Amino acid sequence: MTDFTMTKDADGIATIVWDCTGKSINVMNMDGMRQLDSFIDSALDNEAVKGIIITSGKKDFAAGMDLNVLAKMKATSGDNPAKGVFEGIMMMHNALRKIERAGMDPKTNKGGKPIATVLPGTAMGIGLELPLATHRIFAAENPKAKIGFPEILVGLFPGAGGTTRLVRKLGAMGASQYLLEGKLITPTKAKSAGLIDEVSSEPMKEARAWVLSASASDLVKIWDAKGYKMPGGTPYHPSGFLTFVGASAMVHGKTFGAFPAAKALLSAVYEGAQVPFDTALRIEARWFTNIIMDPSSSAMIRSLFLNKQALEKGAVRPADVADQRVRKVGVIGAGMMGAGIALVSAQAGIDVVLVDQTREAADKGKSYGETYIDTSIKRGKSTAEKKKETLSKINATSDLDLLRDADLIIEAVFEDPEVKSNVTKAVEAVIPKNCIFASNTSTLPISELAKSSLRPEQFIGIHFFSPVERMKLVEIIKGKKTGDHAVAKALDYVRQISKTPIVVNDARFFYANRCIIPYINEGIRMVSEGVAPALVDNAARMLGFPVGPLQLVDETSIDLGAKIARATKTAMGNAYPDSAVDNVLFWLEGQGRIGRKAKAGFFSYDEAGKRLGYWRGLHDRYPQMEEQPQLTEVQHRLMFAQALEAVRALEEGVLMDVREGDVGAILGWGFAPWSGGPISWIDILGSPYAAKRCDELQSAYGDRFSCPNLLREMSEKGHSFYGRFANVEKVT
Ligand code: NAD
Repeated sequence: MTDFTMTKDADGIATIVWDCTGKSINVMNMDGMRQLDSFIDSALDNEAVKGIIITSGKKDFAAGMDLNVLAKMKATSGDNPAKGVFEGIMMMHNALRKIERAGMDPKTNKGGKPIATVLPGTAMGIGLELPLATHRIFAAENPKAKIGFPEILVGLFPGAGGTTRLVRKLGAMGASQYLLEGKLITPTKAKSAGLIDEVSSEPMKEARAWVLSASASDLVKIWDAKGYKMPGGTPYHPSGFLTFVGASAMVHGKTFGAFPAAKALLSAVYEGAQVPFDTALRIEARWFTNIIMDPSSSAMIRSLFLNKQALEKGAVRPADVADQRVRKVGVIGAGMMGAGIALVSAQAGIDVVLVDQTREAADKGKSYGETYIDTSIKRGKSTAEKKKETLSKINATSDLDLLRDADLIIEAVFEDPEVKSNVTKAVEAVIPKNCIFASNTSTLPISELAKSSLRPEQFIGIHFFSPVERMKLVEIIKGKKTGDHAVAKALDYVRQISKTPIVVNDARFFYANRCIIPYINEGIRMVSEGVAPALVDNAARMLGFPVGPLQLVDETSIDLGAKIARATKTAMGNAYPDSAVDNVLFWLEGQGRIGRKAKAGFFSYDEAGKRLGYWRGLHDRYPQMEEQPQLTEVQHRLMFAQALEAVRALEEGVLMDVREGDVGAILGWGFAPWSGGPISWIDILGSPYAAKRCDELQSAYGDRFSCPNLLREMSEKGHSFYGRFANVEKVT
């Protein structure tokens, strides 16, 4: 299979077209790189060729490297994988450097052939690294196109020269938003930022004219010309020094050192800035190898790209149910969640009937969407037309009769079984017989709620996370009687609103909350034992969690935690675990310290609601131990508390697919993304070590850490979760 083809015309221009067969967008793999390299060789050797244009046969240029290849690179690189990976990367570097030098004499910089790239649309990852190695980049005027390096978002950084070239072009400061944040921009913005050279309605015509008229000096990159100085200065230049010191502090402040790729990227930039260009490329390749050798990169690629995409494309959708795209959704309850659900549905072009007890309450829910879009307009992310279009799709009302032609209902009324039961009956009296009814409950078992329904096989849970507009995960819960039609409907709806679904079976707290609660509880329990609250929260932040457990419970509110604890206690009776956590929660609740909303909780707050620090009263009631535990011990308690719950959910059949367990954890509550998710994390530790740690934690802290039977059995056999449960390569 050839990804590239080359033709030569009468003007002496060789045009190399990238067009991967059977794919909607080009992605690079090792074979593709070799094909490109051999075309470049033959064009450079052919005297009749005056210049070269590299372009795409598709509407976009390229999405980047084939991440399947990168995820397996370590495993497929022979007995000495680090050496094999490094050599593979250097093969790419050499091919791109050959393009850049284009046959020039190394001393005089003369005698090269001009090479231009024409980008019809999106150019990301290696799809931008390759153009950056050519002499001039022409992009089509295409506001939908995205230009940039999203690698960091899946635990990588541009490793085929993109890092070194961009930093040498824009300086460390100028390049940082693209390399460290993965910012993607339109061609017009990319031109003003200096990432590409031209934007045109006829990029091919302009590229041809340029190739035919380019002079020898047009081909020499600034870093290959005499007297080159890096914009903003190198690390030992007075201004460069400030940039590098600042960048290091900034990255550490944001990532707490939890993301290996960000650190490796900074090292490649810092070290590369102090040496000649070709040495900088080798340094970049070494750091990239370091990242590929780290199990975190393959775990991140697997969960955050491959499996996330598979779930979005319907990996777990019942195959034999026809398309269930939603036309009209009825959202019942226009509170915090209902308002958000109505908004994201309308934004996806779905007609919405937003119902509340009164017209005023429904209007208030709709106006939430209006305020949200106004903010987006201010940020340049939406337009007045889009606002009009979206709001026109939301019909706010108190009249249930308007639901008579809805094909999906999402109920988001108070978390009260009786209120929900009454709403189910009242709504079912109006809606068509084949309409699916979903509840957004976060704690009530779906099978119980379905008892109020006339059609329990059409009753399902569609559990959003707050804030709905921002959170990408939607947990779909199958009740005991839920049928395939309802599951397909929920999945098709989630796809329409561009979120990522996981499907789980019904059980207390479903999947996400089942794991989040032990995380919060373990944090609170540690405080009651005398562990410093700052150690608890920072240990979590240093694992890459967006917020520590104590801050999280202050945000979600302590009275909610106390309410859930009471309800769970009633439901579980004697099986309820010891009450160390409740003692803290109920005590805080009793003092009116119910979290951020009361400007008092684990933290003290100022009048504006800004956190001032941990509340002193905590220390008085739970004096801190003189000798604080090791950081790793605190981190293991927080990680195992969640990961073991994920394993139990799998063991009990609540979780049906390890991929969903991992993707759901990262998107749902920000579980240490570098690990690839709780199940990947156990695979990285190895099941024998994980089981041994469970035994140690259990004897030190209690039975909640007891090793699940499944993990015990796997540890005895040396199994991994992905090796055993998923048809995917083991993380290496
Ligand atoms: P909320 O109190 O903000 O909103 C509930 C709304 O339902 C109110 O506007 C109320 O007037 C309306 N309502 C009550 N009875 C009604 C009836 N009979 N008919 C029509 N409307 C009625 O609550 P919320 O935070 O939006 O939560 C709603 C649901 O979503 C709950 O089941 C909750 O467990 C679940 N949930 C909440 C979160 C969260 O973070 N808040 C997250 C996931 C799921």
